[in-house]
Amino acid sequence: MKNMDEYRLVLGLEIHLHLRTKTKMFCRCDADIYEADPNTHVCPTCLGLPGALPVPNSEAVMKAQILGIAFGCKINPDSRFDRKHYSYPDLPKGYQISQYKLPLCEGGTVKLNSGFEVVLERIHLEEDTAKSIHEGSKTLVDFNKSGMPLVEIVTTPCFRNIEDAVEFGKRIQEVVRTLEIGDVDMEKGQLRLEANISLRTPEMEERNELPKYKVEIKNINSFRFMEKAVRAEIERQYSLLSKGESVQQENRGFNEVTGKTVSQRNKEQAEDYRYFPEPDIPPMSFDKSYIENLKSKIPVLPHEKYQKYLEMGLAPNEAEFMSYYNNSGYAILLSEIISSGVSAKTAAALIVNKPEFREYTPKEFVAKVKESENKITDKDELMKIISGIIQKNPTAVQDFKNGKSNSVEFILGQVMRETKGKADPQTSRKIITEVFQA
Ligand code: ZN
Ligand code: MN
Repeated sequence: MKNMDEYRLVLGLEIHLHLRTKTKMFCRCDADIYEADPNTHVCPTCLGLPGALPVPNSEAVMKAQILGIAFGCKINPDSRFDRKHYSYPDLPKGYQISQYKLPLCEGGTVKLNSGFEVVLERIHLEEDTAKSIHEGSKTLVDFNKSGMPLVEIVTTPCFRNIEDAVEFGKRIQEVVRTLEIGDVDMEKGQLRLEANISLRTPEMEERNELPKYKVEIKNINSFRFMEKAVRAEIERQYSLLSKGESVQQENRGFNEVTGKTVSQRNKEQAEDYRYFPEPDIPPMSFDKSYIENLKSKIPVLPHEKYQKYLEMGLAPNEAEFMSYYNNSGYAILLSEIISSGVSAKTAAALIVNKPEFREYTPKEFVAKVKESENKITDKDELMKIISGIIQKNPTAVQDFKNGKSNSVEFILGQVMRETKGKADPQTSRKIITEVFQA
């Protein structure tokens, strides 16, 4: 990246993710759509036919609120759905049922392992659109995805570098999986990101002044893609600003082939969406005991696990590995090994760095550790023993030079006998061969 002394990055994220529910957001269609043939999970409601009435899915509402609690948001006691109007082939109603004035969750902060604190604006619930498939000059529409429960997480423009933004995206995945409210597989489109990017001068940063524009990069479907797209957009804005030109507020997409972002359409302002309360769905209200009950269901979260492992003496990369949701099996293994008297540090280092140890039962694991603790692995110590034995067997070197490679095994046998089997055979064999070849 260019020397960015003159400009500083201002970055905000909008993250959309599918919740794991039995049925879709406002109808009874089966929400397990990922392997299904096109247009097989549809009904009048999610096809957007006139007269079809939406009924909110309480499971989706609850799961969105659980996510809000995990991120420290305020759970609004009153909430409602709104219509967000725009016209697109994958949205036949002409509006999306979303939330505007009274989202389910507001505020909240997420502390990253880097120490940076992400400040959230809101978490709301909405319905996903259908999927357009372009085939030559034709566009086909698959409505399976239409009406899928979609959570939108909106951050404030708090990020100052790409690395924290990527870490936050990964944190979302970990938290959603830990809460078991979604699979957030980016390849299946279950997690999508949008990045709002602008640059400002250090003086503006000092005054806490936001730039007057932002450029939104849409449809980011991997973290690698996000990094590349944001870097490309920073370069573009930097070169415009340093020439004294201004940056247009617009939506842009990233072309991986050219490595550049391209203009898509001018960004709508909120008023262009003509939001108004959804008249077919009554407002929702949640009492204190309902919210308290949800709070009591929150499991130990990834950053709490990470802290716990650091306190147990693990290195940061080991703590991170052990706190991944997909590694929870290894976390159980670790706790069982620790209770057998092996130190957390030793056990974690083996699990993280030696994959073969992950396959052991706790009993086998502990036995292997004990065995290796008793072995003589120190090179200098082994060298002393080995040279002593070679001195007593002067013909062994000559045998080796004459091509009798089994003389190495002969010396190794003597070493094992002298150390009562404690010498590490692999290291010993290496040293013997080195001595012979010298
Ligand atoms: Zn449906
Ligand atoms: Mn949205």
